[in-house]
Amino acid sequence: VNVVALRDGDKIQLGSTTILKFTYHDKLEENFQRAMYDAALRDDLTKAFNKKHFLDRLEQEVAFARRHGSALSLLMFDVDHFKRVNDTFGHVAGDQVLARLAQVTQSTVRVEDVFGRYGGEEFAVICRGIGLHDAYTMAERLRALVAATQFVYEAGIIPVTISIGVAGYPEAPVQNGLELIAAADEALYGAKRGGRNRVVLKQ
Ligand code: GH3
Ligand code: MG
Ligand code: MG
Repeated sequence: VNVVALRDGDKIQLGSTTILKFTYHDKLEENFQRAMYDAALRDDLTKAFNKKHFLDRLEQEVAFARRHGSALSLLMFDVDHFKRVNDTFGHVAGDQVLARLAQVTQSTVRVEDVFGRYGGEEFAVICRGIGLHDAYTMAERLRALVAATQFVYEAGIIPVTISIGVAGYPEAPVQNGLELIAAADEALYGAKRGGRNRVVLKQ
């Protein structure tokens, strides 16, 4: 007989259709625990960080930026006329738009950026070490990408645009995360008032 010691990750083929993957139990357990932990921080529909985790991270980042005098930017964005999407295509289509929008966003932000679902159809991105000017460039890229993306539902295409408000520390001399949100929210309101599908910087 030929005896071969199995190593972690080895595959064993049984017949033509079954392949077993050999993994040490503690590693499996560790991966499972990590996945469970990560899932608890994320929103089910969009897989973005949930509001609670997002707010925790934002407070940490604002505290860090203030202590070290480093830059920090926050993007807040909201889907334009989303009620119309639900009314025209239905709530299921609306949900699908949110999931796809989150995918598109996640694909364009950097790994160190923190992307969260702040409310129903409102999202936010914390950009660490990014000044207001670069944050504007990033927001504009995201806005344009969303406007150019085809949101396909059943046979139709759903028109989707977003409005983005951007605020940055230290330009906005905020003391905490909630104040940075208020600043970005004010800019977002300006983007809506200005006609939507646009980026506005907090002045
Ligand atoms: P505006 O351009 O001013 O943002 O217009 P709007 O229609 O998007 O206005 P508003 O923010 O008042 O409406 C948001 C709508 O989003 C209302 C709510 O029913 C819908 N919504 C919130 N969360 C969800 C969700 O998880 N799924 C779906 N399908 N709809 C949602
Ligand atoms: Mg909206
Ligand atoms: Mg809204």
